[in-house]
Amino acid sequence: MDAFILLGAPGAGKGTVASMLTESTGLQHVSTGDMLREAVKAGSPVGLEAKSYMEKGELVPDEVILGIVRERLAAGAKNARYLFDGFPRTEAQASGLETVLRDVGGRLCAVFQLEVPEEVLVDRLAGRRICRACGAVYHVRNIPTKVDGVCDRCGGETVQRPDDTEATVRNRLAVYRRQTEGLIEVYRRQNVLVEVPAAGAREETRDRILAHVPPPEA
Ligand code: AMP
Repeated sequence: MDAFILLGAPGAGKGTVASMLTESTGLQHVSTGDMLREAVKAGSPVGLEAKSYMEKGELVPDEVILGIVRERLAAGAKNARYLFDGFPRTEAQASGLETVLRDVGGRLCAVFQLEVPEEVLVDRLAGRRICRACGAVYHVRNIPTKVDGVCDRCGGETVQRPDDTEATVRNRLAVYRRQTEGLIEVYRRQNVLVEVPAAGAREETRDRILAHVPPPEA
């Protein structure tokens, strides 16, 4: 199992870039945020536990996150290549991932740190819209849908994520600085960190990352 990680503040473009990358690389996109939103929608026990944390912009407890990630990886093939988006977010999650990788003989290939100035993050989050049905991500100005409020991909309704409101956005950025930003140093010390300027066009960010992802073995 090969693992790649997208690390970056909320609004850095992790989800957008991940969906562009999976097409050409054969990487499987694992977004804990998407998995939790699915769980909340389905009303599962994980969803019920996660909901109140997500609404406040706080992190869901590490055991819950590691549980859903382990379950997801157990369902995949041994030679799968994963692109993690929004995971790990704490040192405990990072060491949980390390344990999983050690157990299956997998390796962490690279951690892409998406660098975006704070004012761009806030603008991206405030203008972000997601499709209620398929989860596709848009931005009112930067990536508009062809028809206002309607997903280009599936025709579903596009809405603002409940945690993209101004107060929650501020808390999510503070939580990132307090609980996740330290992982940059952890991965720098492990020599797997790749710093990626990510304030520009999404294609540029994608290409910077692609340069570090070898094609899948035939
Ligand atoms: P995201 O879509 O990655 O911005 O995640 C949305 C929300 O889900 C976060 O604000 C957290 O409440 C929760 N969440 C997603 N991934 C994690 C994680 N790895 N650890 C803790 N909470 C998470």
